[in-house]
Amino acid sequence: MTDPIHSMQLAVDIVLSSRHPENKIAATLFKDGVSLSKTNDWPPAILEKLGQDTRIGDSSGTIHAELNCLFHSAFPTAGASLAITDPCCPNCAKCIAEAGIQSVYIDHKGFEKDFAVRRGDEFQDMSLRILAHAGVSLYEVIRKEHKIRLIYEPESGYIPPEDNQIEIRPCRAPLSIPTLLQTARLVKVKHERWGCALATDIHGKLWTLVASAHPAIGYTHKDIQKTDGKYDFILEPVNRLLMGAARNGLKISCDHLWCSVLPSPREMVNLVGYGVRKIYIGDMGNSKKPESYPAYKTLESNDILLFEDMKRS
Ligand SMILES: [Zn+2]
Repeated sequence: MTDPIHSMQLAVDIVLSSRHPENKIAATLFKDGVSLSKTNDWPPAILEKLGQDTRIGDSSGTIHAELNCLFHSAFPTAGASLAITDPCCPNCAKCIAEAGIQSVYIDHKGFEKDFAVRRGDEFQDMSLRILAHAGVSLYEVIRKEHKIRLIYEPESGYIPPEDNQIEIRPCRAPLSIPTLLQTARLVKVKHERWGCALATDIHGKLWTLVASAHPAIGYTHKDIQKTDGKYDFILEPVNRLLMGAARNGLKISCDHLWCSVLPSPREMVNLVGYGVRKIYIGDMGNSKKPESYPAYKTLESNDILLFEDMKRS
């Protein structure tokens, strides 16, 4: 059974098992009678080698509960729902939209916690706007009363003004580094930050995935110019590859990922959480923000994530 209230209960049942000392959060991803529940957590390699407190560039080392579910989904996440014990952060909201999630349910107790109150503005201002633009429905679950309260629902027939999905094509070449490098060579994109990867479906069939940095679903470059610059509505290429794979029921091969520049620290942590050990980089001297460089140093020197500079080779 995977109704929203039951799914929320499944998340609540495991939330105390989160290793996070203060912010214990859990989520359940559910669709067609199947569900997966996860807490926020540190990827084992980060926990063992860096501990809980080391910053990775400007990012924490944790994988948020929502993404922990999306990374490990055994079914395509397009059209699925998420029940979360807490309001989601703007970064997760962008990824939830990109993964094709249709409905998000937040536990009413999540709105009362200290850090939810602290983050309240962020949720209202950014997470809610991102989900609304993407056409994701949002509800509050009041478990005790067995009630679901509507927070936001798109008008019927709403289609996001822009949903530039990542490119996914069948690949006839074998799963190998030369195939990845050949794919990267053939990519023609206008954006300086882009990535590609090889991925397999449940039948073992191989696919190539290509994504460039892009505004969150429903936003256009024009909308972004209108914002005050305090928040970032752009989804970076590596996160788009990970979410595009989840959306379509594909698993990215952990040894076959390319990014044109150094990914953001948050993308690097997500890669480690996904199980990636090595990434090929087009230009190590280029990144969206300067924090990428210390993040790369921390991860590479501790043998957590390796970077192959393709400009040098
Ligand atoms: Zn989050």
